[in-house]
Amino acid sequence: MLQPSKNRNLTFWVTVATSIFGVVVVTFALYVYSEKNVERVSNLRLNALQLADELRHSSESLTKMARSYIVTGNPDYKRYFQEIIDIREGRRPRPANHLYYWDLVVYGDQFPQDKAADAVPLLDLVKGAAFGENEFSLLADAKRNSDALAQTEMEAIRLFDSTAADPTADKQRARQILFDKAYDQAKLNILRPISQFNDLMDARTAAAVERAIFHANVFRVIFVGTSLFWLYLLWRSYRSLLTLLGASPGELQTQIARLGRGDFSPPAVAVPVDADSVMAWLNETRHELNSLSTARLRAEALLEERTRYLWTNNRILQMLADNAPLETILSELMRIMENIHPGALCSVLLVNEAGTHLCNAASPSLPESWRQITAKVPIGDSIGSCGTAAFRGERVVVEDVRTHAYWRPFRDVAEQAGLRACWSQPFKNSQGKVLGTFAVYHREPARPTEQEIQLIEDYAKLAQLAVERASLAEGLRQSQEMYRLIAENSSEVIWLVDLPEMRFSYINHAIKHLRGWAPEEILNQPLSAMLTPKMEAKVKKTLEGIVARLGAPGQTVRHETLEVELPHKDGHMAPAELIATLLLDEAGRPRQLLGISRDITERKAAEQAIRQMAFHDPLTTLPNQRLLEDRLHQVIARAQRDHSRMSLLFIDLDKFKQVNDMRGHATGDWLLQRVAERMQNCLRESDTAARIGGDEFVVLLPDAETAQSALAVAEKIRATLEEPFVTPDGAALHISSSIGIAIYPDHADTPRDLLRFGDEAMYRAKKGGRNAVEVFAAAAPAQNSRPVIRVMWQPAYACGEPSIDEEHKELFRRANTLLDLAVKHEADPPAVNQAFDELLAHVTAHFAHEEAVLRDHDYEALSRHADQHRVLLEHAQDLRRQAAEGMLPVGELIDFIASKVVVGHMLKEDSRFHGLFTHAPRPNRSRNRTV
Ligand code: GH3
Ligand code: MG
Repeated sequence: MLQPSKNRNLTFWVTVATSIFGVVVVTFALYVYSEKNVERVSNLRLNALQLADELRHSSESLTKMARSYIVTGNPDYKRYFQEIIDIREGRRPRPANHLYYWDLVVYGDQFPQDKAADAVPLLDLVKGAAFGENEFSLLADAKRNSDALAQTEMEAIRLFDSTAADPTADKQRARQILFDKAYDQAKLNILRPISQFNDLMDARTAAAVERAIFHANVFRVIFVGTSLFWLYLLWRSYRSLLTLLGASPGELQTQIARLGRGDFSPPAVAVPVDADSVMAWLNETRHELNSLSTARLRAEALLEERTRYLWTNNRILQMLADNAPLETILSELMRIMENIHPGALCSVLLVNEAGTHLCNAASPSLPESWRQITAKVPIGDSIGSCGTAAFRGERVVVEDVRTHAYWRPFRDVAEQAGLRACWSQPFKNSQGKVLGTFAVYHREPARPTEQEIQLIEDYAKLAQLAVERASLAEGLRQSQEMYRLIAENSSEVIWLVDLPEMRFSYINHAIKHLRGWAPEEILNQPLSAMLTPKMEAKVKKTLEGIVARLGAPGQTVRHETLEVELPHKDGHMAPAELIATLLLDEAGRPRQLLGISRDITERKAAEQAIRQMAFHDPLTTLPNQRLLEDRLHQVIARAQRDHSRMSLLFIDLDKFKQVNDMRGHATGDWLLQRVAERMQNCLRESDTAARIGGDEFVVLLPDAETAQSALAVAEKIRATLEEPFVTPDGAALHISSSIGIAIYPDHADTPRDLLRFGDEAMYRAKKGGRNAVEVFAAAAPAQNSRPVIRVMWQPAYACGEPSIDEEHKELFRRANTLLDLAVKHEADPPAVNQAFDELLAHVTAHFAHEEAVLRDHDYEALSRHADQHRVLLEHAQDLRRQAAEGMLPVGELIDFIASKVVVGHMLKEDSRFHGLFTHAPRPNRSRNRTV
């Protein structure tokens, strides 16, 4: 660092030099001014002399012109005379060189054509000059005298020009005037003051000039003196500058130029310089820059080395990424290391699986003989460099294999291979287990530098990376192979669907068996293309369910099992069980759906069989008691909901045991199956026929809302079972059935009661002689309940005789009126009795009329028919009596009208004579009984 004193010194000298330079400039200016003053004073003097001279000269010229004119008579002289007067008085411009002007005119008739000065009177010029008072008055006198003489001269000219009688005398007179003594005296009066002026002026101006010259000389001396002093100061400043710089500017410039070029080396010849100078500072800076440069070079070298390591690292990683064989990778690593360190020979030995030996994995530059030696090296203490390093788990450096004890067993072979030094660095896996050794050989005894040790460690790490990666890759390959084998040989379909595209990204060959398509046909297909819309919606819903659960706290289950039906390539639907597991990415977002689908056709069939067995009768395949009860519950619930009715038929075969006994149990079974078939043929889709035991069946009729419609179905069943059954061996089996009817909610409103009442009604049919249909005779309906039964006219009831048919229709109307009123019996008994009476009257009249018609038609069974009429009438009158006593059993009345009159008489007995009117008599095959 520069000391301030030196700086101050230089500043002082520069400041003084600068100030003195100012003085020099001022003295120079004064000197120049004084010189100018000398010139100005001289000019004034000259000007004064010229003015005086012009006065004298013009006077002389006037004299000359006047005299010349008088002598010669040449008018030009007169004209010149006048011009001189005009110029002197400022009426004409003054010729530029008027001093010789007057003289020249005599040589020609023209004035010289020099550029004229201004027209200024001579006296004005004299006034303008800086004359003293005396000087001015002398010149003014001279001028006045000259003007007076000019008047005289003009008088002479006038005389000369006189045109008087005696011109010669005038001319003579004129000449006399110009040449006489008076003229000379006048002339003298002009010249004397001019001469005095000249003396005065000369004396004065000469002194002024002298003074000015003196001043100029003084300033010259001062200027020269200060200039010399200034130069001295400049020299002192330069000296101070040199002291400050510590070298000449040229040397300094050379040094700076070197620095600029980046040359920070010390100069070849070291010149001692003042420590407190710019040069010393520059040297210091150069020294620092040199240090920095050296450090930078070192850093660059390190960076280059790191870059090379990184490059090597990348190269090895690239090879790992390309799945290059481990041996290739290690050989490449060795080659790179050998390139970096010419003369070094590298190898990698790996620990075998048993952990007992090291095996040569890569040694591209080592001799074959040595490769054989290191093909299998025992791991142990003092066994070469590598065996020992692997055993100890630490670096082993052998500078000279000839002398080192570890190398005693290998000394000769090493000698043959030309190896003298071996440094071995073990490398370990993350658990600290030695994986192998990285060895560097030299052909001369050698010891690694710190830098080389670092390098060996780094490259050993790379070898470790490659070995670990290879081992991982092998493990991965094996596990992938295992999973591939599992997936490919699994009978279950394993698949992956990418989300959110919902496309198959993997599917194993089991799909061929399950769905008929090859995996290639399904891969990359959207899920929707492989499922029915219904199944797709189901799968999506399941997926949404899993995704929705993901956000819920404590929910970790990401799989779901669902049963689906998958379309098979051949068109049929394949039942399958699907276990879908949602796979998430690192951010916890759904990534894929892993699924396992298995064919559950057999399981479904088994389940169906079990279900069939559980709910169906194995012999007839009809629903069994359990399913019946279930359906009965449903049917009742529906009727309840719809405020409608339904009917139940309880059927038992008549004397079925005899078939078993006579034809054998198998025939009995066969018959039961045929019975079931015929029964089902009588039913609608919505009806249910069930076998609830031995030869007992129950039929549910959800749509049979009246006893009449239930009776119609029951009659149909009864009639069809009455038909003979012909066995495969040609035998005709004859059986019949007894059927009981119970109606919801008229007879009961629970499944149990309905079955019980149906059974009761069936039992009554049995008791009545079998092959019959009985409606359950319910107790009187509850008060205010709706009428339970209405008889309905059907076209089938028409016999073809209009009057009888009309009476039958009237009978239905009146019967319904009675039934309606009977329900309200308690409310209005007289109305019931009246309706009953009217019905009885109508029936009595109708029976009489019908019998008359039949008689007319010679109906053969007339008497039996009339007997029936009588029995019916008696029964009706009996009921009428009970009604009269206020004890009308409404249930019995219903049963009487519906079962006995309509079904028992009209459908059965009356139908026998229909043939009389239609000529197509219908056979009667059923027989009903009343309860
Ligand atoms: P009824 O007119 O009084 O009904 O007389 P029935 O002979 O039909 O006697 P019942 O209904 O009481 O008995 C039914 C018989 O059906 C009893 C049994 O021998 C027979 N049976 C029960 N289950 C089976 C079966 O699965 N197969 C065969 N072949 N016979 C059966
Ligand atoms: Mg039976």
